[in-house]
Amino acid sequence: MKAHDGLYIDGAWRPAGSRDVIEVVNPVDEQVIGHVPAGGALDVDAAVRAARAALPAWAATPAAERAARLTALRDALVARKDEIAETVTAELGAPPEFAQAVHVGLPIAVAGSYAELAAAHSFEEKVGNSTVLHEPVGVVGAITPWNYPLHQIVAKVAPALAAGCTVVLKPAEDTPLTAQLFAEAVHEAGVPAGVFNLVTGLGPVAGQALAEHPGVDLVSFTGSTAVGRQIGAAAGAAVKQVALELGGKSANVILPSADLAKAVNVGVANVMANSGQTCSAWTRMLVHRDRYEEAVELARTAAAKYGDRIGPLVSARQQARVRGYIEKGVAEGARIVAGGPQSPNERGYFVSPTVFADVTPQMTIAQEEIFGPVLAILPYDDEEDALRIANGTVYGLAGAVWAGDASEAAAFARRMDTGQVDINGGRFNPLAPFGGYKQSGVGRELGAHGLAEYLQTKSLQF
Ligand code: NAP
Ligand code: MG
Repeated sequence: MKAHDGLYIDGAWRPAGSRDVIEVVNPVDEQVIGHVPAGGALDVDAAVRAARAALPAWAATPAAERAARLTALRDALVARKDEIAETVTAELGAPPEFAQAVHVGLPIAVAGSYAELAAAHSFEEKVGNSTVLHEPVGVVGAITPWNYPLHQIVAKVAPALAAGCTVVLKPAEDTPLTAQLFAEAVHEAGVPAGVFNLVTGLGPVAGQALAEHPGVDLVSFTGSTAVGRQIGAAAGAAVKQVALELGGKSANVILPSADLAKAVNVGVANVMANSGQTCSAWTRMLVHRDRYEEAVELARTAAAKYGDRIGPLVSARQQARVRGYIEKGVAEGARIVAGGPQSPNERGYFVSPTVFADVTPQMTIAQEEIFGPVLAILPYDDEEDALRIANGTVYGLAGAVWAGDASEAAAFARRMDTGQVDINGGRFNPLAPFGGYKQSGVGRELGAHGLAEYLQTKSLQF
């Protein structure tokens, strides 16, 4: 992998203030594949200054021209799609087919959607005797995780640029090479200098400096609840806007009238995809007591298929964390029907696809986000019980409901405290608002709702 030894600030790759570097490791074989600079507070400051200086001109650029740059960005990502997929495979461990289809395919679709939205959006509206202007919020500090390295970046940067904001990005330390490729694509797309800036670095150093910088108007963060809480508190104290996309513990509710085999198979696939490193994964499967054992058997068979088809976890730290949760599940009395805490390979950060039965709603594995290929199957007595269990965590990011007909499933979904629900396997929609109820976050990403996050209103009265 070719890595830049600089930071992309004000339209060029520049040396970082310190010589500190981050080692990038391939989680399949644990080999170091590259180094990137670990930026510090001075680098963040330089990047924020560049973004601030570029803001007036970019905010005043006609939306059609911003849309043209986003179209060019989408095209630059398309032109590099093999290189990006190989890089995501190398630094995240994603299997090549999944890397192409999802890690590259999804952000290309999202970049394209914001090219269209920027062109079509009406940045002015009439309300009685007022003209309401939708103006960019300003300089955005974007902090992203490693689980979908390019998607998480595009889901923030594309709407920010569409809105007329400028951006400083601090990507996850585990996946900085994909972020560097993104910066190259932005450059090729002819986005003016300073509009987008990249500072690779460590969370508690570069990330914290960005979140606390007084020159940042909006902090958009995706990652753990623990860090999100800190960033939210700091933003509140500084009275600046904040968007938080945090964890989940989403419920896959299989009602008695559902096609059980289909619901279980799609449910297991949903959890195992990306080795379980998906914030919206349906990690709790809720099945009526009468069909519980049948569902457990179906899940056991389904999980066995994933044995050698999923990649490793991103890091030794995540592997240890996930194995710790599996041990905790056993200790708290849940029954392992597939997988387990032992490592399936000698080398690499792999965890076996794991299915737990006899899980009760109070268990740690039914409450906390594990972020690995681990499914908990819980029995319920009736619909009210299912609803109580589904809504019984601090999270509310996504979910699924399966029933004999869509209207029955939708009626249940309306009562769920969560931001997205897939009805009978409804497919992912990159234009639908994505974000959390309760402690899953603040704000929405994607589509027109995601664009609105980067706009503020000014009313002129006539
Ligand atoms: P994390 O620490 O919250 O990482 C997310 C981003 O925040 C990274 O860029 C990280 O930098 C940065 N960061 C860390 N500490 C910071 C601070 N004090 N101030 C500002 N930025 C900071 O998450 P993680 O440690 O990678 O993963 C831990 C758990 O978080 C996972 O097991 C999972 O449960 C959850 N998670 C959720 C999502 C999601 O999509 N909602 C994504 C990833 C993880 P570094 O990369 O240098 O740490
Ligand atoms: Mg971290």
